Amino acid sequence: MQPSDPAREVTSICSDLIRIDTSNHGPQGSKGEREAAEYLATMLDEVGITSTILESEPRRATLVAHWEPEGCDTSLPPLLIHGHTDVVPAEPADWQVDPFAGEVRDGCVWGRGAVDMKDFDAMVLSVIRDRVRTGRPSRRPIRLIFTADEEAGSGLGAKWLVENHPELISDCSEAIGEVGGFSITVRDDLRLYLIQTAEKGLSWLKLIADGTAGHGSMRNPDNAVTNLAAAVARIGAHEWPQRLHPAQKAFLAAVEDAFEITIDTGNVEESLARLGTVARMVGATMANSANPTMLQAGYKVNVIPGRATAGIDARFIPGYEQELLDTLTELIGPKVRLEVETTEIAVETEFAGALVEAMQACLAAEDPAAQAVPFLMSGGTDAKGWSRLGVRCFGFSPLGCRPTSTSWPCSTGLTSGFRWSRLSSAPASWIASSTKPDHQRRPSMIRRPRRTRLVGAEFPARIRPA
Ligand SMILES: [Zn+2]
Repeated sequence: MQPSDPAREVTSICSDLIRIDTSNHGPQGSKGEREAAEYLATMLDEVGITSTILESEPRRATLVAHWEPEGCDTSLPPLLIHGHTDVVPAEPADWQVDPFAGEVRDGCVWGRGAVDMKDFDAMVLSVIRDRVRTGRPSRRPIRLIFTADEEAGSGLGAKWLVENHPELISDCSEAIGEVGGFSITVRDDLRLYLIQTAEKGLSWLKLIADGTAGHGSMRNPDNAVTNLAAAVARIGAHEWPQRLHPAQKAFLAAVEDAFEITIDTGNVEESLARLGTVARMVGATMANSANPTMLQAGYKVNVIPGRATAGIDARFIPGYEQELLDTLTELIGPKVRLEVETTEIAVETEFAGALVEAMQACLAAEDPAAQAVPFLMSGGTDAKGWSRLGVRCFGFSPLGCRPTSTSWPCSTGLTSGFRWSRLSSAPASWIASSTKPDHQRRPSMIRRPRRTRLVGAEFPARIRPA
């Protein structure tokens, strides 16, 4: 077996994965997921871990592997570690580097997926390969899943797997994947690392107004376009009441403490302006929301159509789905009806337990200035799939961001240039130290993590601001 050098390998694996163009164009098609899954399978196979590649449709490949090394306690429920292999498309002309070259420059890997989330895929793979090569088993079984189609809603990846092969996931008690783990530098001796413990749910709705069709020159008190437009305007103008989820409260309290500010919860975007794009995400998780996004009616200017429809993108705080639907039903009034076209559950778990402590400890071991803070995410991830099977989901793919950066390194922006990624082998810590879930432990939400390393924690690479 080759000597182990995970710090070097994590970079080369990430670059290799970026070079496999896995652009996901949604209904317009995708590519590369099969090649990426085969690459990952080969890397696992090299250290004796067999895996299975499952396809929801031809070449829409998801890889599943069981790592249960000798010495691990198989009586414990497995920890699911998951990453997706697909990326949102990139237009090379908009980039300062080739988005699919996996170039290493200034100590960072550049390219589409360098942050979301081929970096994490590489971290996990390099850590596990290292542990196999150096004979250090995990304390509990590890279930590895690398999914297809996350960037188009997971229908051909995580959701398909949950619906068709739930037995591959349902024995796992907890899962770690995206989106959290990135840092916000407060000052030299204090950096907040956000750990995702909740996601908003979504309802994509169709509003339908049926009226009386007729000639445009006649009076028409039952005009579908007029009725629909009024309903859409009411939804667009509605001010949704604050619904502060525990993760949101903990996050806001930690930010107030860290920056020594008082946040105006009526205008968090302004209070948190210094956090850049994070402020927008926080703003989006203060309340339910509903944005009109599509309108359709008519075929000729002098013909009043019998029907008009609109699309609404509605998102709800965990626990507030019914309130969202009740409010919308009231807002649209009696002349418009509402159909739910797509719905996605909200996800939430407590920021407590042995696994959370392991994450805190691994951050502290890498960065003495680290403070782990839970947060509620406005969007959705594969966690929505696993969560249906009762798995507690955390977003923790560690990433030290530049102290001066005012934008969270989200790589899904379509017009943004490139992003940077400093890779780390932090997963070594929670792979090594995660134990039985313990819901009874005291939440340690916004406390500074303990400085002690857990047994077996080890970091061949660094999480450090660049
Ligand atoms: Zn992602």
